Amino acid sequence: MIPKYADLHVHTFYSDSTFSPEEVVFCAKDKGLAAIAICDHDTVDGIDPCMVAGLEKGVEIIPGIEMSVEKMDAEIHVLGYFIDWKQDWLRKKLKSIQDSRVERIFIMMGKLNAMGVKVDAEEVFRIAVNKGSVGRLHVAKAMLSSGAIKNLREAFNKYIGFAKPCYVPYTKLSPKETMELILKAGGVPVIAHPDLIGNDSYIGEFIDHGLRGLEVYHTDHKPHISKRYETMAKELGLMMTGGSDCHGMGKGRILMGTVRVPYELVEKLKEESRKIRDDPSARPIRK
Ligand code: AMP
Ligand code: ZN
Ligand code: FE
Ligand code: FE
Repeated sequence: MIPKYADLHVHTFYSDSTFSPEEVVFCAKDKGLAAIAICDHDTVDGIDPCMVAGLEKGVEIIPGIEMSVEKMDAEIHVLGYFIDWKQDWLRKKLKSIQDSRVERIFIMMGKLNAMGVKVDAEEVFRIAVNKGSVGRLHVAKAMLSSGAIKNLREAFNKYIGFAKPCYVPYTKLSPKETMELILKAGGVPVIAHPDLIGNDSYIGEFIDHGLRGLEVYHTDHKPHISKRYETMAKELGLMMTGGSDCHGMGKGRILMGTVRVPYELVEKLKEESRKIRDDPSARPIRK
């Protein structure tokens, strides 16, 4: 039998990918993936259209999300796999986060303009397509199109990267609230690209609140980094997930399928989601 693979971290243009749901699914099929997890930043709007396209093309769509966590000194992203994306309370909560993302764009524009950077909110929202989950990748692209910077990296390194002069936070949930939200929605919480946090000591707090896995394999994790998190996940009794974090052409090239995991992991995540739905407050038994 031909082995099946899944890419467990894919964005659509409902957050900051350049790909529509149809393009996402077409690309997944083209790369020979059996399943992809749609993990947009703070929105579930891309899931239904991806499922429609997925049914047609024979690609399984795993409903997911990527949430950013409130921390003063670090940027932490948490993925939620197999969330029940149709829940009203979840959509309301996400809407309030999306509103704060929109407000934050105007504050960022003020800071950037004060530093002499030519960029305006109208262009950012034009690039964003879906104004809801607008973010810094859209801002960076608007800066590129106005000629203010030479490449996207410059935007983050000089201006809008975490703790840089024009970085502006938006309303985020605490680690506890983030974990509770994902679990309440029946999702399996996994820390995304843990190496990008820059400090492994944060992981313990998430375990206390019911963390189930680490995204061991990621585009920005070199092999020795993935090895480190493999060892850590085994020691802590956490699942090991992986995904490309494909943003369409948003990061310069199409990443989909460059990081993939055996399909059996999808079955394990599905089973874990079933257990969480039975009892969201239950914690996995650890060694
Ligand atoms: P936001 O959700 O607005 O905070 O922006 C998050 C997006 O910005 C994600 O797609 C990240 O991959 C991207 N991003 C954050 N920091 C950097 C960086 N230093 N270089 C490139 N992209 C970044
Ligand atoms: Zn993104
Ligand atoms: Fe992320
Ligand atoms: Fe992502």
